[in-house]
Amino acid sequence: MGGRRRVELRDPLCPGTGVEAVGLVEGEIELTHGGSSVSARGWLRVPIRLECSRCLVEFVQVLQISVNEECALEQVDTPEAQLIARGKEGQIPILNEEDVDLSELVRQLVAMEVPSRPLCRDDCAGLCPRCGRPLSSGPCPCGEDEIDPRWSALRDLKL
Ligand SMILES: [Zn+2]
Ligand SMILES: [Zn+2]
Repeated sequence: MGGRRRVELRDPLCPGTGVEAVGLVEGEIELTHGGSSVSARGWLRVPIRLECSRCLVEFVQVLQISVNEECALEQVDTPEAQLIARGKEGQIPILNEEDVDLSELVRQLVAMEVPSRPLCRDDCAGLCPRCGRPLSSGPCPCGEDEIDPRWSALRDLKL
C-alpha cells in the first residue's frame, strides 16, 4: 500500500477485548502512509453488552471511538505478542501478509475504551442495601413492613 487509503469496517468484533459485542464493528478509517509509520484516523462504533457497576443490570452501550493512532506496517501476530510490541514501539501493527489488517487496531482501541465502571444511566440509584432490589423505580418497599426495634420493644412491654 502507498499514499492514502480509506478503509470501511463492518466486521464482527475480534476476540481479546474483554467485552461482548451485540453487533458489528462499524467504522471508517483513513490510513496515511508517511515514512516508517502509518497514521490511522477516523472513527469506530460498536454496541457492547455491559453490566451496571451499581445495580448489576445488563445493558447495551454503543462505544463511539475516535481513531487517531500511529500504526506500524508489521505483521499482526498473536494479541499477546502485540501488547509487548506496542509497549516497546508504541505502534499498532496493521499488516497481514500483503494487506492491511485493522483487527489489532480495533481490538486495542475497544479494550481501551470499555468503561471500567459502567453505569446503566448516569443517575443509577443502585441496589437496595437491605434486600438487593434495584432502586430504579423509587424507594424500596422492603422496609415498610419491617418492625422498628423500638416499637417491638414497646409491644413487649407488659403494662
Ligand atoms: Zn444501574
Ligand atoms: Zn429493599
